[in-house]
Amino acid sequence: MPTSEDFTVKTLGECRFPSPLNFPEELYVSEHTRIRFAAEIPNEIGSDEELAFEKAGPRKNIFFDPNETKAAIVTCGGISPGLNDVIRSIVMQMYYKYGVKNLLGIRFGYKGLNPANWLEPIKLTPNDVERIHELGGTVLGSSRGHEAPEVMVDTLEKLHINVLFCIGGDGTLRGADVIWQEVERRGLPISIIGIPKTIDNDIGYVAKTFGFDTAVAEARHALQCAHVEAKGAQNGIGLVKVMGRDSGFIAAHATLANLDVNFTLIPEVAFDLHGKGGFLDALEQRIRKRHHAVIIVAEGAGQEFFQEDARKDASGNILHNDIGILLRDEIQTYFKTKNIPITLKYIDPSYIIRSVAANASDSIFCAHLGRYAVHAAMAGRTDMLVGRWHDEFTHVPIPITVSTRKKISTSSALWLSVLESTGQPVSLKSVGC
Ligand code: ATP
Ligand code: MG
Repeated sequence: MPTSEDFTVKTLGECRFPSPLNFPEELYVSEHTRIRFAAEIPNEIGSDEELAFEKAGPRKNIFFDPNETKAAIVTCGGISPGLNDVIRSIVMQMYYKYGVKNLLGIRFGYKGLNPANWLEPIKLTPNDVERIHELGGTVLGSSRGHEAPEVMVDTLEKLHINVLFCIGGDGTLRGADVIWQEVERRGLPISIIGIPKTIDNDIGYVAKTFGFDTAVAEARHALQCAHVEAKGAQNGIGLVKVMGRDSGFIAAHATLANLDVNFTLIPEVAFDLHGKGGFLDALEQRIRKRHHAVIIVAEGAGQEFFQEDARKDASGNILHNDIGILLRDEIQTYFKTKNIPITLKYIDPSYIIRSVAANASDSIFCAHLGRYAVHAAMAGRTDMLVGRWHDEFTHVPIPITVSTRKKISTSSALWLSVLESTGQPVSLKSVGC
């Protein structure tokens, strides 16, 4: 269990400069305002200390003198809808609200912080970012793979950067933490602020990450197509694979958004393919009864069916075997053996989903995240990310967030809704013949 110390956000020092924002008093967030971690009241009185996040927002006094501040933005890991919205928001907020005109974009992730890669940072002004929110991907480029923290901090020092905004997933945040440790070791007043990006929505202590809403909307579209295909053929089966390496949030939410899905397979819930009560048996029951079916599977589901050794990407992430292809082949073989004719259409929209521009809801969210990240940085916070909790924006220390991964609990209201919506058996584990 975390302690209140784990929720304590690091600061670079005393906030000596008055904020240039000129807001009325009530718009500033007091240094003492907290957002409760637990929504439920603990049932054992006195059993828990009250854990709470620092509330995000503008502070009346800030740590950095805007005239002397230089900030840089880096985007790492896989692309996700909304990256450009966050970049735009940070630049606009820094430039127009805090008067920080010295802004740099680091090219191609942490690689751009190693001079050996010959990737010169680019200057960012409002003119450069004005329309980028209309584009998918990241205008700065991204990458995977480790760079030495000493080299990256040398670059920050050489470029006189005071604030580094790191936009990315769990790996990027681990990288940001490592950069901070080197900054701290050297005793430098450099703020390292994370903005959590992952369409999988699996960052711990953060209710929602940007890109997720857009991913769900796009996945829903794929499910609609799969349903049309399934209904258009006798014994039609539409199979859709979506992202979700370790957590099935996209699959679960897309199921609830679409309502035509009959089976939702996620990494958190193990299932059997064969045997009575297993997935193929349950699918056969469904086909016999209704003559069509829609299945959604998250990429990390059913990995235990593969024999091969796990491969890794440049950042050390495990590359999963393709569960979509395996299911497609297993379903076809199963029904052939049973002499039941089916028409199966397999749709894998993964890269289409992540490369689109943010939808309206993500754009709003990203703009907020960018602004709150700037407030936090200017107030001298460091080694933290901007989170969302109980409908509020929060400061979350990076170490606590990378210590865990958010997953769907099978006892949650979300999973209950999925079971109710799909009508799939609570367990797809075989009971034996
Ligand atoms: P996503 O998984 O959503 O695509 P990510 O941020 O997790 O995004 P990664 O490729 O895992 O993507 O990591 C992004 C960057 O962070 C890479 O340059 C990687 O080398 C670096 N990184 C990852 N883990 C660490 C770590 N433990 N220490 C230092 N740097 C790390
Ligand atoms: Mg990751």
